[in-house]
Amino acid sequence: MILLDGKKTSEAIQQEIAAEVADIKANGGKVPHLAAILVGNDGGSVTYVTNKVLACERVGFGSTLVRYEDDVTEEELLSKIQELNESKEVDGFIVQLPLPKHINTQKVLEAVDPKKDVDGFHPANVGRMVAGLTSFLPATPYGILQLIERYGIETSGKHCVVIGRSNIVGSPMSILMAKAAYPGNATVTLCHRNTVDLAYHTRQADIIIAAVGIPGLITADMVKEGAVVIDVGTTRVPDATRKSGYRLRGDVDFDNVAPKCSYITPVPGGVGPLTIAMLLKNTLRAAKKEVYA
Ligand code: ADP
Repeated sequence: MILLDGKKTSEAIQQEIAAEVADIKANGGKVPHLAAILVGNDGGSVTYVTNKVLACERVGFGSTLVRYEDDVTEEELLSKIQELNESKEVDGFIVQLPLPKHINTQKVLEAVDPKKDVDGFHPANVGRMVAGLTSFLPATPYGILQLIERYGIETSGKHCVVIGRSNIVGSPMSILMAKAAYPGNATVTLCHRNTVDLAYHTRQADIIIAAVGIPGLITADMVKEGAVVIDVGTTRVPDATRKSGYRLRGDVDFDNVAPKCSYITPVPGGVGPLTIAMLLKNTLRAAKKEVYA
């Protein structure tokens, strides 16, 4: 059994990005710049955005954090997005979700110029991904592809069972694993809350990608010997022995499933750490005009 080390992979990717930024600087080019819009004071969102800004500094990117109170109007947000769309300095930007209820999230996401949409949430990028064109891939699916690629995991002709059909993980993952490329060329089954007999499907899987948010949903009896298991679930469960009062648990019953696997991601330390690296990678690609060439 080989552990898919997301932390190590994320650090390697960030080092590659930092080296490229150093080159750009040395050649007198413009350093990539990421902006983030944060609305409100939700603890999780503040932490995520802060980490993204810190990561920018680590690799040598410029960064801008735009903060609003919870009562910001949709118009104010849309006008800031317009400003960032037109900015010569900002190569890519993100709007941290979730947004307050009085704001139409879809409208906000669609206001972002697809060429600067480094979260890959704009329908233009989703559509390009489905059509097999270059696009900004959402960070989690992009990170999973990197793990598969960097560990040289075979995907062609394999049966990949994706569990969960969210717009940001399960659905894009199912499309990417089926596309005619590496990683891809897999036969894909997409399971979700209406799936009858989930275990029937997972037992046939060479590759399982679980993105559900139910701790321990995937048990050892549901997994074939030698399977590759990628766990995207990160649910906070109470843990009095931790300073934070909680710990993260994946969708997979790791202790019992791991011995059966050829490869498996731990939680934490698997897919999670890759998301920031892939956001930086998307920003670099935006700056290099790689996606919309
Ligand atoms: P994420 O952002 O990690 O993808 P979401 O909460 O947006 O998470 O999506 C969870 C997904 O998990 C949904 O697509 C839902 O259909 C799926 N799901 C929920 N419960 C089950 C279940 N018991 N079996 C299989 N899939 C499930």
